[in-house]
Amino acid sequence: MYIFLGANIIYSITCLISSILLSALASLISVQYKDRPYIRPLCLLAIFAVIYSFGYAFEIMKGDVDWVFFWLRIEYLGIPFIGTSYLWFALEFTGNRKYIKPYLLLFFFGISAFISISVFTNKFHNLYYSYIKIDNTGPFPSANLGRGPFYIINMIWFLISTSISFLLFILYYVKLPSILRRQVITVIIGSLFTIVSSIAYFSGLIPWNIDIGPLITSVNGIIFAIGILILKIFNVSPIIRDRIFESMRDGVIVTNLYGIVVDFNPIAQEFIPSLSRNWIGEILSKKMPEFDISLNKASDVVLFSIENKDGEHFYEVKQIPIINNIGKKIGNAWYIRQVTEQKKLLEQLKFYAEKDGLTGIWNRRKWLELAEAEFKRVKRYKRPISIISIDIDHFKNINDTMGHAVGDKILEGLAKFISIQIRESDIFGRVGGEEFAIILPETNRESARIMAERLLKAVANNKFKYDEIEINITVSIGVASYECDAESISLDELIKRGDNALYEAKRQGRNRVCIG
Ligand code: GH3
Ligand code: MG
Ligand code: MG
Repeated sequence: MYIFLGANIIYSITCLISSILLSALASLISVQYKDRPYIRPLCLLAIFAVIYSFGYAFEIMKGDVDWVFFWLRIEYLGIPFIGTSYLWFALEFTGNRKYIKPYLLLFFFGISAFISISVFTNKFHNLYYSYIKIDNTGPFPSANLGRGPFYIINMIWFLISTSISFLLFILYYVKLPSILRRQVITVIIGSLFTIVSSIAYFSGLIPWNIDIGPLITSVNGIIFAIGILILKIFNVSPIIRDRIFESMRDGVIVTNLYGIVVDFNPIAQEFIPSLSRNWIGEILSKKMPEFDISLNKASDVVLFSIENKDGEHFYEVKQIPIINNIGKKIGNAWYIRQVTEQKKLLEQLKFYAEKDGLTGIWNRRKWLELAEAEFKRVKRYKRPISIISIDIDHFKNINDTMGHAVGDKILEGLAKFISIQIRESDIFGRVGGEEFAIILPETNRESARIMAERLLKAVANNKFKYDEIEINITVSIGVASYECDAESISLDELIKRGDNALYEAKRQGRNRVCIG
């Protein structure tokens, strides 16, 4: 009798300790890691397991059928929900949230609720327990329960949900790079232990009808405690690190030594819309050739652009090696910085440094630079080159009578008009207030003259429109050419000759071409 009492008290205390341990664990993790998506199902799992252990601790205190059935019903407020919460936790933990649809969760919990209700109403149908007897053959009286069809459903559901969870953990483990696998080992061991021991219990391998479920949950609780407290898998510092990682303004993708994606933060996903959890385990440079692993120096920066719905965005990516605490490189962090604004600003600066703000053609400085390069080239290859200098006739009058704004519009319109008349290789610039110049590579004097005459006529015949007003303008043109003559001249000299010819055209009465 002494031993008899002692054994059930010891097991009862074990169950109570396990429920206290689980409650403590659930509170600890729910406070510390409340923002993790898998914490909710994990806490639910702990709560249901606590109800189970707690109920069982009382069930085995007395060898009385009514007492046992009362506490069984308490246990069944937890038992059927354990497998369900386990599966939910596994789906969240392994990043398969996309499968967690509300109707699916409702269905899963519906199964659990059905099992629970069938225990509560067992008296009326005996479909869960076909009988409830007390087994006095073991070290303490235990419930000998006849398994009805609903009990089988419970058994099958528990095995299905825990087996799927186990498979999910295994698949997740295989996909993870080795440095992160340690995190998953505890849950794999826990789920394996649960499945093996439940099969042992369901198949009657455990003698005297003793329910080892509470023991399973307590051992599972200890495994989780080891995972959390000793292996520090959900420790505070990684959380702080995670927070920083998650809230950084730079995108970060972490790869291991083999260039395989290990992790990334939300901003990286925002920058690269195709980036998803599916990239984890894949080689980064295969997904994004811009992230080439051959880029090994820390100082190297690569620029890439991504087109999305609101235009083209530019990013700068920098590879920084990750060194562990013994100085060994274990991977790389790819810092991605959005540089769209800077790039646009730079392009704008470049534009204003080279282009004329009003007309968009080359400004004087850039025109001279391009003209010089072209002049050097034709001289080297002994090819002809010509210049056409253009000045609007009586432009002051237009400004005076119609206003400066109209004058500006005419300058803009004339630049556009000339641009479409000339060849792509011609270098066209605004070299003064209302003066333009064109460098014509590979063009001799005669061809340049023809070109100038054609332009002159085209301008004179064109009507420049401004606010419904049509304005006619004429230009005077000076042409000068270098045809690999014996005397070698400079670009300055050629420009001067063009200007002189222009001056001559003005002197002769304007709206004409003069050859220098
Ligand atoms: P011509 O060349 O036929 O001798 O007479 P013009 O009246 O054109 O004389 P000139 O070339 O000396 O005068 C140039 C005028 O062009 C002076 C200035 O008011 C005007 N001008 C220069 N730059 C701009 C500009 O950016 N916008 C406007 N609206 N006018 C300009
Ligand atoms: Mg003029
Ligand atoms: Mg002028």
